[in-house]
Amino acid sequence: MPSEILTPDEFPEANTLEDFKANIAAVNKRIADAAERVGRDPAEIRLLPVSKTVPEERIRLAVQAGLRQFGENRVQEATAKYHAMKDLDIEWSVIGNLQTNKARDVAAYASEFQALDRLRVAKALDRRLQNAERTLPVFVQVNTSNEPQKYGIQPDELREFLEALQDYPTLKVQGLMTLALFTPEVERVRECFVLLRNLRDKMREEVPELIGPGELSMGMSGDFEVAIEEGSTVVRVGQAIFGARETPDSYYWPGITTSN
Ligand SMILES: *Cc1c(COP(=O)(O)O)cnc(C)c1O
Repeated sequence: MPSEILTPDEFPEANTLEDFKANIAAVNKRIADAAERVGRDPAEIRLLPVSKTVPEERIRLAVQAGLRQFGENRVQEATAKYHAMKDLDIEWSVIGNLQTNKARDVAAYASEFQALDRLRVAKALDRRLQNAERTLPVFVQVNTSNEPQKYGIQPDELREFLEALQDYPTLKVQGLMTLALFTPEVERVRECFVLLRNLRDKMREEVPELIGPGELSMGMSGDFEVAIEEGSTVVRVGQAIFGARETPDSYYWPGITTSN
């Protein structure tokens, strides 16, 4: 069965432990099926649950259902949740755009940062990490959809960006991250994922020491099967686990053309 792009009305809300178990099992099954279709081992793919807008009580249920790592788009929200749930053994992954004045928070508690696209942010993070005597796994965000206002560096700037990151030794590059075009047209979404994989492969050839393990963080609730077919190693999934979000996606990403 060919992959389709799903829309939020297809994601049931999880409010009980049983709901969470069912949604997580369904997502894991979709991951395994997509991997199998292209002969990949599902164990190569990390599911990163995205908990933005989800309140504490429901995150606690998700933890009870077995989740240990959560992605948050906004640092302020991530920081509040980190403090509120310190009693739990949770890793917080920051997956959205970062202002330099929030670098200290991310350096203090984040388990990884997936949206690195400016050297000013790299510099601010590195300084804070040095102070805290920590290192931070990072993904470089690439704009693969050619939409001018979207976050992410341009594909042709990637190599230079990776070279410049060598000045910031506390940042441990894990690979690349992208958001695909927001469209129901599956082949246009696929092109974004293929572009990211090709870029990763090119960097592995040209500057293998700068791309780390070469991970590919791509795919969200609506399109992660397509992403897995194209080599994704991290899928960032919110709505398919927690249920449809009311906040429109344009709140998180400037310049997107369609919204829910
Ligand atoms: C919200 C978000 C996701 C998850 O989107 P869903 O539609 O909830 O799966 C993935 N990546 C980023 C950067 C996000 O902000």
